[in-house]
Amino acid sequence: MAEHSIRVVNARVVTPSGTITGGIAASDGKITAVGSNSSLPEAEQTIDAEGNYLIPGIICPHNHMGISRYEHDYHTQYELDMETETKACLAGGVTSFFTFLLQEEPYVPDMDFFVDTGEQESYIDFGFHAIVHQDHHVDEIDDLAAEGIRSFKLFFNMYKTSAPELGIGHSDAGRVYTVLKKTAEMENAVVMFHAENDDLGPVKVEEIKAEGRDDLSAWADASPGISQAMQIEQIGMLTEHTGATTYVVHNSMEETVDALGRYNERGVSIHGETLPSFLANHCEDEDVGLWGKISPPIGYKKDQEALWKALRNGTFDHVGTDHCPYQLEFKGPRDGSVWEAPPGDQGLQTFLPLMLSEGVNKNRISMERMVEVCSTNNAKRFGIYPRKGALVEGADADAVIVDLKKEFTVDEDYLYGLDNRWCSAFGRELTGAPTHTIKGGELVVEDNDVLTEGGIGSYLPRYEDGVPVTE
Ligand SMILES: [Zn+2]
Repeated sequence: MAEHSIRVVNARVVTPSGTITGGIAASDGKITAVGSNSSLPEAEQTIDAEGNYLIPGIICPHNHMGISRYEHDYHTQYELDMETETKACLAGGVTSFFTFLLQEEPYVPDMDFFVDTGEQESYIDFGFHAIVHQDHHVDEIDDLAAEGIRSFKLFFNMYKTSAPELGIGHSDAGRVYTVLKKTAEMENAVVMFHAENDDLGPVKVEEIKAEGRDDLSAWADASPGISQAMQIEQIGMLTEHTGATTYVVHNSMEETVDALGRYNERGVSIHGETLPSFLANHCEDEDVGLWGKISPPIGYKKDQEALWKALRNGTFDHVGTDHCPYQLEFKGPRDGSVWEAPPGDQGLQTFLPLMLSEGVNKNRISMERMVEVCSTNNAKRFGIYPRKGALVEGADADAVIVDLKKEFTVDEDYLYGLDNRWCSAFGRELTGAPTHTIKGGELVVEDNDVLTEGGIGSYLPRYEDGVPVTE
């Protein structure tokens, strides 16, 4: 990878200080210049962007490698997913991600495995969030920070009823308080929450089932927006009380916007994420079917528009995918029963295309704001900025050319990944797609053809002063 120079010209370059006409130059994996065409140094390889946008590589802060465990154990499935799913990432313009570590055993003894296996298999750079769901995980927090993990996730009240059978311990307010107190003093620490109330959930499910309903809107009504907002209220209060920094993953309904907005106005450091699955869909669209069954659920049209508005006005600052690489035989048919299918969507490869097609091209978000919420802000929140998340001199040369007019269908030919026969966007015709992905100064994807092998990804550890900058 060393000593290769590349440049992109004739682009609309989205930089932190505005969008300029010109391009970037890179050598040895780093950006060496950003500016007008004539200001860029010569390079071994030149790509003509033909007037299209050039944006920083997309960064997914939320996905689950190794989550599907009915065929292999966690570590084997993690190894497989780190190859197939990161290849899908690259094709879709995602050049870095943070994935959740989830096991019952302590994490620290397995850190070498997670890092080394990732570097052997991955097509993209990667970091980790640790899911803290056992007391011994809480005890590991300082040691995990020494391993480069400063983001921790709790299922606050979620999985309470199913905890024993899933092997996932839920968290009560006591554990939340303990973790927030511990991390409040830690530089760059973020505590992430699945906010959905599992005392209310089972009662609602029985109520809606008894009405004989079985579709995506039934699933939405079984976990209404207040179920998320109730948990956000407590997380907000505990965040304010401890002075920690928190992040609520996958907000899907209007009530979450109201709840987070109230705490934002009080200056509490609580931050909101939503998903393309929620931004691109609503639960009354019958074409989506149960491949759109997610926890929390896809909301109604009013929820969808409230989420876009929250991204525009800054109530939400982050978009991630919550990509769950299940196989179709596990997820089940699109027209099956919503009460039987496991929740989860796939979305790494369609992350950027959905944001372009449903967002930028429908005037719901500007290109610049899209770059902020899908790349820059994710890099900042999780301690890898400005090495990642911005087209600036000295940053890693991870960049994507996007063609806003390119039309394509999300089908089996388009999708990479473990099992490409299902996802909520499957079958959809989109307008707007990445045409070239550059990672570490190398052209690695052209028109959805991946031009590299796996094993080119690096671990992104986060310490007190962020991620180390490599030479
Ligand atoms: Zn998730």
